[in-house]
Amino acid sequence: MSGASIVADLLSDTLTRPTPAMREAMAQAEVGDDVFGEDPTLRALEERVAGLIGQPAGLFTPSGSMANQLGVRLHAGPGAELVADSLAHVVRAELGAAAALSGITSRTWVAEAGRFRAEDAAAMMVTGVGPYQVCTGVVVVENTHNFGGGTVQSLEEIRAARRLTRAAGVAMHLDGARLWNAHVATGVALADYGREFDTVSVCLSKGLGAPVGSVLLGSAEAMAEARVWRKRFGGGMRQAGILAAAGLYALDHNIERLAEDHARAHRAAVAMADAAPGSVVPDSVGTNIVIADVSAAGWTAPNFVAAALERGVRLYAVGPALVRLVWHLDVDDAATDHAVDVVTDLLAPERTARGRTGR
Ligand SMILES: *Cc1c(COP(=O)(O)O)cnc(C)c1O
Repeated sequence: MSGASIVADLLSDTLTRPTPAMREAMAQAEVGDDVFGEDPTLRALEERVAGLIGQPAGLFTPSGSMANQLGVRLHAGPGAELVADSLAHVVRAELGAAAALSGITSRTWVAEAGRFRAEDAAAMMVTGVGPYQVCTGVVVVENTHNFGGGTVQSLEEIRAARRLTRAAGVAMHLDGARLWNAHVATGVALADYGREFDTVSVCLSKGLGAPVGSVLLGSAEAMAEARVWRKRFGGGMRQAGILAAAGLYALDHNIERLAEDHARAHRAAVAMADAAPGSVVPDSVGTNIVIADVSAAGWTAPNFVAAALERGVRLYAVGPALVRLVWHLDVDDAATDHAVDVVTDLLAPERTARGRTGR
């Protein structure tokens, strides 16, 4: 890393820092010991998120990974499997937790941009094969899809999968770390997505801007069981209402504004596609994540990331040729302008130089 200071930090939407108003809400929170079920602010958050997502009950967790791992643990024990697409966070970015903590194996299908199709899940599920093959306990759907480029999943495909899995006795878990973004991008109610699943996880610490926390949603019985596993996983928390207060503040103030992140990401995608056709398909950028292929412009992803950092723009290499740009609460229009100038110039220096000098 060079000495250049960062003007646009597009590394991740987890970078957001709590604002003074959010910190004030945290400071004022009424708290109790949540392992004894006595934190009123935490209880209020769990009930509020459950209502929003269309599920009976909620359980606060320290991370989205823990919420996902509790969710899959409820549906698949040792020797059973989960199935998901090959870029899913639950299989790629949770460090093998399903295997390491729960003895769950994983099988995956390849999905273009992480786009979920019921037929892919149906083709992979295995049930009722007794002692001959691994039985599928749960299908995991990610919405929006992180490594797919913020892809919003189709409610019709989710509903079709729900019918197929229900008939087969297989559970469905939604990794809804960015379900808020899907809701804001489409106008589909959070609960319309949420109620199609047995369990749902949502993150408060991504675009919503809270410093810590996720919530797992499901039936009251499932959440009671998840509470036991959360303690077993080391996630029992005491006066966590101080964190829940940040989450409540985020729900009040930061959902609808995700549309601004989406608009900035789309603006950048259009500019990048213009500078280097084929690097990005702007129509596929519907939320806050842009994944660009920089190879056609002669770059490797790590070199592109290093060159952008030299000029104050931090990105993430998600593959040898792919870079990810993520918009969030702490990236405004001016920072976006700077990022667009830098990445388009790196993608097509002659072209942008011509553009700037009017030649
Ligand atoms: C960030 C994220 C999670 C949870 O991550 P934690 O860092 O454990 O909070 C889960 N799923 C997706 C798709 C994510 O992007």
